[in-house]
Amino acid sequence: KIMVLSGKGGVGKSFISSMLSLALAERNYRVSIMDADIHGSSIPTLLGLHDARHYADEGGILPVEGPLGVKVVAINLMLDSPDLPVVWRGPLKSRAIIELLAKVKWPEGDFLILDLPPGTGDEAITIVQSIKDLTGAIIVTAPNILSEVIVSKAVNFVVKNNVRLLGIVENMSYFKCPESGREYSILGKSTGEELARKYNTRLLARIPLDPLIASALEEGVPYLLAYPEGEAAKAIRSLAGEVLRILQQ
Ligand code: ADP
Ligand code: MG
Repeated sequence: KIMVLSGKGGVGKSFISSMLSLALAERNYRVSIMDADIHGSSIPTLLGLHDARHYADEGGILPVEGPLGVKVVAINLMLDSPDLPVVWRGPLKSRAIIELLAKVKWPEGDFLILDLPPGTGDEAITIVQSIKDLTGAIIVTAPNILSEVIVSKAVNFVVKNNVRLLGIVENMSYFKCPESGREYSILGKSTGEELARKYNTRLLARIPLDPLIASALEEGVPYLLAYPEGEAAKAIRSLAGEVLRILQQ
């Protein structure tokens, strides 16, 4: 049970958790993913699930079947109109998460990836407190002047809650020019290595910026499967390998 978090939104948590799920499924692991971001639910879209809904039987709420057999659970897939903004306050959101965790008919499996909402507030606390046997956490950051704050907040949260920190992923790290092969830093200086050292953890992966991610979203297909040779796809597969290596240590 691995949670993916960050001190900030828009750094690619959902992209990384959904693609990591697929990369693990490609290696024949049985993977479930829970989208715990009520306001910014994006896992179903990133996995190319359109018009999907949760159904229930006597046993509980059934996960939605995603690509490569990945089982998807998302609060948004239970709402009457997934497109309307949710106007719940903190306690209601926390209750929704707890209820969903309890009522889903979780399949047998090898991995549960938890995609958290931005920051280290109510929802994140609820998840850490309701899932007792979390294996670890992956912190996502991006290279810019705020990355230090993003990482330090997330590390503090993980440490305070006694969760094992598996490492940091630096997303949108660089852009590799397809013509020249040269790497450019677009968002700023890469600080992942430095931050990992500072917080006594490891840099699990540097994921490049890849315009094909936007293309895949427009086409409504999961990036990793649509563009398996994409620069970010290769980096995601190596992230999956690194996570497996650490867990087997
Ligand atoms: P978060 O979950 O942290 O808020 P998302 O995963 O939703 O962030 O990512 C924000 C946006 O950036 C999405 O549109 C996503 O497709 C895009 N994105 C994420 N990572 C990359 C990348 N490495 N290259 C290009 N676009 C990316
Ligand atoms: Mg997200």
